[in-house]
Amino acid sequence: MKKIQMVDLKSQYDKIKPEINEAIQRVLDSTAFIRGEAVSHFQQNLEKYLDVKHVILVGNGTDALQIALMALGLKPGDEVITPTFTFIATAEVVALLGLTPILVDVNLDTFNISIESIKKAITPRTKAIVPVHLFGQCAQMEEILNIAHQHNLFVIEDACQSMGAQYIFSDSTKTHSGTMGDIGCTSFFPSKNLGCFGDGGALFTNNDFLADNIKKIANHGMETRYYHEVVGVNSRLDTIQAAILDVKLKYLDKYILARQKAAAFYDNAFKNNPKIIIPYKSPNSTHAFHQYTVKLQGVNRNELQKKLAEKQIPAMIYYPVPLHLQEAYKNERYKSGDFPIAEWLCQYVISLPMHTELDEEQLNFIAETVDNILI
Ligand SMILES: *Cc1c(COP(=O)(O)O)cnc(C)c1O
Repeated sequence: MKKIQMVDLKSQYDKIKPEINEAIQRVLDSTAFIRGEAVSHFQQNLEKYLDVKHVILVGNGTDALQIALMALGLKPGDEVITPTFTFIATAEVVALLGLTPILVDVNLDTFNISIESIKKAITPRTKAIVPVHLFGQCAQMEEILNIAHQHNLFVIEDACQSMGAQYIFSDSTKTHSGTMGDIGCTSFFPSKNLGCFGDGGALFTNNDFLADNIKKIANHGMETRYYHEVVGVNSRLDTIQAAILDVKLKYLDKYILARQKAAAFYDNAFKNNPKIIIPYKSPNSTHAFHQYTVKLQGVNRNELQKKLAEKQIPAMIYYPVPLHLQEAYKNERYKSGDFPIAEWLCQYVISLPMHTELDEEQLNFIAETVDNILI
Protein backbone atom coordinates (compact mmCIF):
# COMPACT_ATOMS: atom_id res chain seq x y z
CA MET A 1 0.00 0.00 0.00
CA LYS A 2 1.13 3.55 -0.76
CA LYS A 3 2.18 5.52 2.34
CA ILE A 4 -0.83 7.36 3.78
CA GLN A 5 -0.41 11.12 4.09
CA MET A 6 -2.70 14.00 5.09
CA VAL A 7 -2.00 15.40 1.60
CA ASP A 8 -0.25 13.57 -1.24
CA LEU A 9 1.11 16.26 -3.54
CA LYS A 10 3.67 13.96 -5.11
CA SER A 11 1.14 11.49 -6.55
CA GLN A 12 -0.98 14.38 -7.81
CA TYR A 13 2.02 16.00 -9.50
CA ASP A 14 3.18 12.71 -11.06
CA LYS A 15 -0.12 12.39 -12.96
CA ILE A 16 0.24 15.75 -14.71
CA LYS A 17 4.03 16.04 -14.65
CA PRO A 18 4.73 16.56 -18.38
CA GLU A 19 2.09 19.29 -18.63
CA ILE A 20 3.29 21.08 -15.51
CA ASN A 21 6.97 20.80 -16.39
CA GLU A 22 6.32 22.16 -19.86
CA ALA A 23 4.40 25.12 -18.42
CA ILE A 24 7.25 25.89 -16.00
CA GLN A 25 9.84 25.51 -18.76
CA ARG A 26 7.99 28.05 -20.90
CA VAL A 27 8.24 30.58 -18.08
CA LEU A 28 11.93 29.81 -17.59
CA ASP A 29 12.57 30.35 -21.30
CA SER A 30 10.64 33.62 -21.29
CA THR A 31 12.40 34.83 -18.09
CA ALA A 32 9.25 36.93 -17.50
CA PHE A 33 9.12 35.82 -13.89
CA ILE A 34 6.90 38.71 -12.78
CA ARG A 35 3.77 39.71 -14.72
CA GLY A 36 4.48 37.18 -17.45
CA GLU A 37 1.87 35.92 -19.89
CA ALA A 38 0.68 33.05 -17.70
CA VAL A 39 -0.45 35.50 -15.01
CA SER A 40 -3.10 37.13 -17.18
CA HIS A 41 -4.05 33.79 -18.76
CA PHE A 42 -4.68 32.24 -15.38
CA GLN A 43 -6.50 35.36 -14.17
CA GLN A 44 -8.89 35.23 -17.12
CA ASN A 45 -9.43 31.50 -16.88
CA LEU A 46 -10.21 31.78 -13.18
CA GLU A 47 -12.65 34.64 -13.84
CA LYS A 48 -14.42 32.37 -16.33
CA TYR A 49 -14.40 29.37 -14.01
CA LEU A 50 -15.81 31.35 -11.09
CA ASP A 51 -18.08 33.52 -13.22
CA VAL A 52 -16.78 36.65 -11.49
CA LYS A 53 -15.89 39.99 -13.06
CA HIS A 54 -12.48 40.53 -11.46
CA VAL A 55 -9.78 38.20 -10.18
CA ILE A 56 -6.72 39.92 -8.71
CA LEU A 57 -3.78 37.58 -8.10
CA VAL A 58 -1.60 38.19 -5.05
CA GLY A 59 1.18 36.61 -3.00
CA ASN A 60 -0.84 34.47 -0.59
CA GLY A 61 -4.25 34.11 1.05
CA THR A 62 -3.33 36.19 4.10
CA ASP A 63 -2.29 39.07 1.84
CA ALA A 64 -5.59 38.70 0.00
CA LEU A 65 -7.52 39.13 3.26
CA GLN A 66 -5.40 42.10 4.30
CA ILE A 67 -5.72 43.84 0.93
CA ALA A 68 -9.48 43.22 0.95
CA LEU A 69 -9.84 45.03 4.29
CA MET A 70 -7.57 47.86 3.08
CA ALA A 71 -9.64 48.23 -0.09
CA LEU A 72 -12.79 48.89 1.95
CA GLY A 73 -11.18 51.99 3.46
CA LEU A 74 -11.85 50.96 7.06
CA LYS A 75 -10.44 53.05 9.90
CA PRO A 76 -8.77 52.00 13.17
CA GLY A 77 -11.42 51.05 15.72
CA ASP A 78 -13.86 49.82 13.07
CA GLU A 79 -15.22 46.43 14.04
CA VAL A 80 -15.00 43.33 11.87
CA ILE A 81 -17.01 40.24 12.81
CA THR A 82 -15.33 36.90 12.20
CA PRO A 83 -15.63 33.37 13.63
CA THR A 84 -13.44 32.26 16.52
CA PHE A 85 -13.12 28.75 15.07
CA THR A 86 -10.85 29.25 12.03
CA PHE A 87 -7.25 29.59 10.93
CA ILE A 88 -5.56 32.58 12.55
CA ALA A 89 -5.03 34.56 9.31
CA THR A 90 -8.65 35.71 9.23
CA ALA A 91 -8.40 37.68 12.48
CA GLU A 92 -4.68 38.42 12.20
CA VAL A 93 -5.04 40.88 9.33
CA VAL A 94 -7.94 42.63 11.09
CA ALA A 95 -5.74 43.19 14.14
CA LEU A 96 -2.69 44.16 12.05
CA LEU A 97 -4.64 46.98 10.40
CA GLY A 98 -5.69 48.39 13.76
CA LEU A 99 -9.28 47.27 13.22
CA THR A 100 -11.07 45.43 16.02
CA PRO A 101 -11.75 41.74 15.44
CA ILE A 102 -15.11 40.84 16.97
CA LEU A 103 -15.05 37.10 17.38
CA VAL A 104 -18.26 35.10 17.37
CA ASP A 105 -19.28 31.47 17.81
CA VAL A 106 -19.97 28.91 15.10
CA ASN A 107 -22.62 26.28 14.39
CA LEU A 108 -22.12 22.82 15.86
CA ASP A 109 -23.17 21.09 12.65
CA THR A 110 -21.41 23.05 9.87
CA PHE A 111 -18.47 24.51 11.89
CA ASN A 112 -19.32 27.83 10.16
CA ILE A 113 -20.13 31.25 11.61
CA SER A 114 -23.42 31.38 13.51
CA ILE A 115 -26.06 33.77 12.19
CA GLU A 116 -27.52 34.40 15.66
CA SER A 117 -24.05 35.27 16.97
CA ILE A 118 -23.46 37.72 14.12
CA LYS A 119 -26.74 39.49 14.90
CA LYS A 120 -25.82 39.83 18.57
CA ALA A 121 -22.34 41.17 17.80
CA ILE A 122 -23.40 44.07 15.57
CA THR A 123 -22.76 47.56 17.02
CA PRO A 124 -22.70 51.05 15.45
CA ARG A 125 -18.96 50.51 14.86
CA THR A 126 -19.41 47.28 12.90
CA LYS A 127 -18.19 47.70 9.32
CA ALA A 128 -17.71 44.22 7.92
CA ILE A 129 -18.41 40.52 8.33
CA VAL A 130 -15.76 37.99 7.31
CA PRO A 131 -17.36 34.53 7.11
CA VAL A 132 -15.01 31.59 6.56
CA HIS A 133 -16.17 28.67 4.42
CA LEU A 134 -14.47 26.23 6.73
CA PHE A 135 -13.22 22.83 5.57
CA GLY A 136 -14.74 23.43 2.12
CA GLN A 137 -18.42 24.09 2.84
CA CYS A 138 -20.02 27.52 2.43
CA ALA A 139 -21.27 29.51 5.40
CA GLN A 140 -24.95 30.64 5.31
CA MET A 141 -24.31 33.35 2.74
CA GLU A 142 -27.92 34.23 1.98
CA GLU A 143 -28.57 35.09 5.63
CA ILE A 144 -25.20 36.84 5.96
CA LEU A 145 -25.82 38.96 2.85
CA ASN A 146 -29.26 39.90 4.18
CA ILE A 147 -27.85 41.00 7.54
CA ALA A 148 -25.10 42.95 5.77
CA HIS A 149 -27.65 44.66 3.58
CA GLN A 150 -29.85 45.61 6.54
CA HIS A 151 -26.95 47.06 8.52
CA ASN A 152 -24.95 48.45 5.61
CA LEU A 153 -21.94 46.19 6.21
CA PHE A 154 -19.32 44.83 3.85
CA VAL A 155 -18.90 41.08 3.43
CA ILE A 156 -15.48 39.59 2.75
CA GLU A 157 -15.55 35.83 2.19
CA ASP A 158 -12.58 33.82 3.39
CA ALA A 159 -12.73 31.19 0.67
CA CYS A 160 -9.21 29.90 1.32
CA GLN A 161 -10.50 26.37 2.02
CA SER A 162 -13.49 26.33 -0.32
CA MET A 163 -12.18 26.67 -3.88
CA GLY A 164 -14.61 24.76 -6.06
CA ALA A 165 -17.50 24.79 -3.58
CA GLN A 166 -20.79 26.36 -4.62
CA TYR A 167 -23.48 28.03 -2.54
CA ILE A 168 -27.08 27.19 -3.36
CA PHE A 169 -29.49 30.11 -2.81
CA SER A 170 -33.13 29.52 -1.87
CA ASP A 171 -34.14 30.19 -5.47
CA SER A 172 -31.80 27.30 -6.44
CA THR A 173 -29.18 29.48 -8.15
CA LYS A 174 -25.68 28.14 -7.60
CA THR A 175 -22.80 30.55 -7.06
CA HIS A 176 -19.10 29.88 -6.50
CA SER A 177 -17.76 30.47 -3.02
CA GLY A 178 -15.86 33.73 -2.86
CA THR A 179 -18.02 35.51 -5.46
CA MET A 180 -21.05 36.47 -3.36
CA GLY A 181 -19.69 39.04 -0.92
CA ASP A 182 -18.15 42.40 -1.78
CA ILE A 183 -14.80 40.63 -1.98
CA GLY A 184 -13.76 36.98 -1.80
CA CYS A 185 -10.28 35.79 -0.85
CA THR A 186 -8.52 32.53 -1.55
CA SER A 187 -5.16 30.86 -1.05
CA PHE A 188 -3.18 28.70 -3.46
CA PHE A 189 -1.00 27.25 -0.69
CA PRO A 190 0.14 23.83 -1.97
CA SER A 191 -2.26 21.79 0.16
CA LYS A 192 -5.36 23.87 -0.65
CA ASN A 193 -7.98 22.62 -3.11
CA LEU A 194 -6.26 24.51 -5.92
CA GLY A 195 -2.65 24.63 -4.83
CA CYS A 196 0.49 25.96 -6.49
CA PHE A 197 4.11 24.98 -5.83
CA GLY A 198 4.80 27.74 -3.34
CA ASP A 199 2.70 30.64 -2.07
CA GLY A 200 -0.16 32.27 -3.92
CA GLY A 201 -3.53 33.87 -3.39
CA ALA A 202 -6.32 35.83 -5.05
CA LEU A 203 -9.16 38.26 -4.49
CA PHE A 204 -12.48 38.10 -6.34
CA THR A 205 -14.98 40.89 -6.80
CA ASN A 206 -17.80 41.96 -9.11
CA ASN A 207 -17.35 45.59 -8.04
CA ASP A 208 -15.26 47.71 -10.47
CA PHE A 209 -14.43 50.34 -7.86
CA LEU A 210 -13.19 47.76 -5.33
CA ALA A 211 -11.25 45.97 -8.08
CA ASP A 212 -9.39 49.19 -8.90
CA ASN A 213 -8.65 49.78 -5.21
CA ILE A 214 -7.41 46.23 -4.76
CA LYS A 215 -5.10 46.40 -7.79
CA LYS A 216 -3.70 49.70 -6.62
CA ILE A 217 -3.12 48.58 -3.03
CA ALA A 218 -1.47 45.30 -4.09
CA ASN A 219 0.92 47.32 -6.27
CA HIS A 220 2.46 49.83 -3.83
CA GLY A 221 -0.59 52.08 -3.98
CA MET A 222 0.11 53.16 -7.53
CA GLU A 223 -1.74 53.16 -10.81
CA THR A 224 0.76 55.22 -12.78
CA ARG A 225 4.27 54.00 -12.18
CA TYR A 226 6.10 55.88 -9.40
CA TYR A 227 3.02 57.97 -8.51
CA HIS A 228 1.68 56.59 -5.22
CA GLU A 229 -1.88 57.58 -4.34
CA VAL A 230 -2.37 55.45 -1.24
CA VAL A 231 -0.20 53.42 1.11
CA GLY A 232 -0.09 49.96 -0.40
CA VAL A 233 1.80 46.70 -0.22
CA ASN A 234 3.76 44.55 -2.65
CA SER A 235 1.84 41.35 -3.29
CA ARG A 236 1.63 39.41 -6.53
CA LEU A 237 1.48 35.90 -7.89
CA ASP A 238 4.67 35.11 -9.80
CA THR A 239 4.53 33.76 -13.34
CA ILE A 240 5.76 30.25 -12.49
CA GLN A 241 2.98 29.80 -9.91
CA ALA A 242 0.40 31.20 -12.34
CA ALA A 243 1.54 28.77 -15.05
CA ILE A 244 1.22 25.84 -12.65
CA LEU A 245 -2.22 27.00 -11.47
CA ASP A 246 -3.43 27.48 -15.03
CA VAL A 247 -2.70 23.80 -15.68
CA LYS A 248 -4.22 22.65 -12.39
CA LEU A 249 -7.40 24.73 -12.79
CA LYS A 250 -8.43 22.38 -15.61
CA TYR A 251 -8.40 19.53 -13.11
CA LEU A 252 -10.08 21.35 -10.22
CA ASP A 253 -13.54 19.86 -10.75
CA LYS A 254 -11.99 16.41 -11.01
CA TYR A 255 -10.02 17.05 -7.81
CA ILE A 256 -13.17 18.13 -5.97
CA LEU A 257 -14.96 14.98 -7.16
CA ALA A 258 -12.08 12.84 -5.88
CA ARG A 259 -12.32 14.55 -2.48
CA GLN A 260 -16.09 14.07 -2.39
CA LYS A 261 -15.66 10.40 -3.30
CA ALA A 262 -13.19 9.84 -0.47
CA ALA A 263 -15.55 11.66 1.92
CA ALA A 264 -18.47 9.47 0.82
CA PHE A 265 -16.36 6.40 1.50
CA TYR A 266 -15.56 7.60 5.03
CA ASP A 267 -19.19 8.62 5.62
CA ASN A 268 -20.38 5.18 4.70
CA ALA A 269 -17.75 3.46 6.84
CA PHE A 270 -18.50 5.55 9.95
CA LYS A 271 -22.23 6.18 9.67
CA ASN A 272 -23.15 3.45 12.14
CA ASN A 273 -20.34 4.14 14.60
CA PRO A 274 -21.91 5.98 17.57
CA LYS A 275 -18.51 7.43 18.53
CA ILE A 276 -18.09 9.33 15.26
CA ILE A 277 -20.31 12.10 13.93
CA ILE A 278 -19.67 12.40 10.21
CA PRO A 279 -19.58 15.84 8.53
CA TYR A 280 -22.97 17.52 8.15
CA LYS A 281 -23.89 18.39 4.54
CA SER A 282 -25.62 21.71 4.27
CA PRO A 283 -28.54 21.76 1.78
CA ASN A 284 -27.29 25.23 0.76
CA SER A 285 -23.77 24.30 -0.26
CA THR A 286 -21.80 21.73 -2.12
CA HIS A 287 -18.86 20.48 -0.05
CA ALA A 288 -15.37 20.73 -1.54
CA PHE A 289 -13.89 18.72 1.35
CA HIS A 290 -10.70 20.62 1.93
CA GLN A 291 -10.74 18.64 5.18
CA TYR A 292 -12.70 15.60 6.31
CA THR A 293 -13.40 16.55 9.90
CA VAL A 294 -15.46 14.45 12.28
CA LYS A 295 -16.66 15.00 15.84
CA LEU A 296 -15.84 12.35 18.43
CA GLN A 297 -18.18 11.23 21.21
CA GLY A 298 -16.83 9.48 24.30
CA VAL A 299 -13.41 9.03 22.75
CA ASN A 300 -9.97 9.95 24.07
CA ARG A 301 -8.77 11.95 21.07
CA ASN A 302 -5.07 11.89 21.94
CA GLU A 303 -5.19 8.15 22.30
CA LEU A 304 -6.95 7.75 18.96
CA GLN A 305 -4.40 9.97 17.25
CA LYS A 306 -1.55 8.01 18.84
CA LYS A 307 -2.97 4.63 17.87
CA LEU A 308 -3.54 5.79 14.30
CA ALA A 309 0.05 7.06 14.16
CA GLU A 310 1.26 3.61 15.24
CA LYS A 311 -0.45 2.28 12.09
CA GLN A 312 1.18 5.05 10.00
CA ILE A 313 -2.11 6.93 9.63
CA PRO A 314 -1.73 10.66 10.20
CA ALA A 315 -4.63 12.65 11.67
CA MET A 316 -4.70 16.35 12.51
CA ILE A 317 -6.55 18.65 14.88
CA TYR A 318 -7.99 21.64 12.99
CA TYR A 319 -8.10 23.61 15.28
CA PRO A 320 -6.92 22.90 18.84
CA VAL A 321 -7.47 26.43 20.24
CA PRO A 322 -10.17 28.95 19.25
CA LEU A 323 -8.91 32.43 18.37
CA HIS A 324 -10.34 34.10 21.50
CA LEU A 325 -8.14 31.88 23.68
CA GLN A 326 -4.95 32.38 21.66
CA GLU A 327 -2.18 34.19 23.53
CA ALA A 328 -1.97 37.01 20.98
CA TYR A 329 -5.71 37.65 20.92
CA LYS A 330 -6.53 37.45 24.61
CA ASN A 331 -8.12 40.64 25.89
CA GLU A 332 -10.65 41.86 28.41
CA ARG A 333 -13.42 41.28 25.86
CA TYR A 334 -13.17 37.48 25.92
CA LYS A 335 -12.79 34.67 28.41
CA SER A 336 -12.93 30.92 28.41
CA GLY A 337 -16.56 29.78 28.14
CA ASP A 338 -17.69 32.71 25.97
CA PHE A 339 -17.99 30.62 22.81
CA PRO A 340 -19.00 27.17 24.03
CA ILE A 341 -19.49 25.56 20.63
CA ALA A 342 -16.11 26.59 19.25
CA GLU A 343 -14.46 25.57 22.51
CA TRP A 344 -16.20 22.19 22.41
CA LEU A 345 -15.21 21.64 18.77
CA CYS A 346 -11.57 22.39 19.55
CA GLN A 347 -11.63 19.49 21.99
CA TYR A 348 -13.56 16.92 19.99
CA VAL A 349 -12.82 17.32 16.26
CA ILE A 350 -10.27 15.32 14.32
CA SER A 351 -9.42 15.47 10.62
CA LEU A 352 -8.54 12.33 8.67
CA PRO A 353 -6.34 12.15 5.57
CA MET A 354 -8.12 13.95 2.72
CA HIS A 355 -6.69 14.59 -0.72
CA THR A 356 -7.21 13.83 -4.37
CA GLU A 357 -5.06 10.70 -4.51
CA LEU A 358 -6.53 8.45 -1.79
CA ASP A 359 -7.17 4.99 -3.24
CA GLU A 360 -9.63 2.33 -2.15
CA GLU A 361 -6.95 0.28 -0.39
CA GLN A 362 -5.83 3.27 1.70
CA LEU A 363 -9.41 4.35 2.48
CA ASN A 364 -10.31 0.80 3.52
CA PHE A 365 -7.28 0.58 5.77
CA ILE A 366 -7.98 3.97 7.40
CA ALA A 367 -11.68 3.22 7.94
CA GLU A 368 -11.03 -0.27 9.32
CA THR A 369 -8.29 0.96 11.62
CA VAL A 370 -10.44 3.78 12.98
CA ASP A 371 -13.42 1.45 13.48
CA ASN A 372 -11.22 -1.13 15.21
CA ILE A 373 -9.85 1.45 17.62
CA LEU A 374 -13.29 2.87 18.32
CA ILE A 375 -15.29 -0.29 19.00
C1 LIG B 1 -4.86 28.87 4.36
C2 LIG B 1 -5.81 29.83 4.94
C3 LIG B 1 -5.53 31.20 4.96
C4 LIG B 1 -4.22 31.81 4.56
O1 LIG B 1 -3.70 31.45 3.36
P1 LIG B 1 -2.13 31.59 3.09
O2 LIG B 1 -2.01 31.47 1.62
O3 LIG B 1 -1.44 30.50 3.84
O4 LIG B 1 -1.71 32.93 3.57
C5 LIG B 1 -6.51 32.04 5.46
N1 LIG B 1 -7.68 31.59 5.93
C6 LIG B 1 -7.96 30.27 5.95
C7 LIG B 1 -9.28 29.81 6.48
C8 LIG B 1 -7.03 29.35 5.48
O5 LIG B 1 -7.32 28.04 5.52
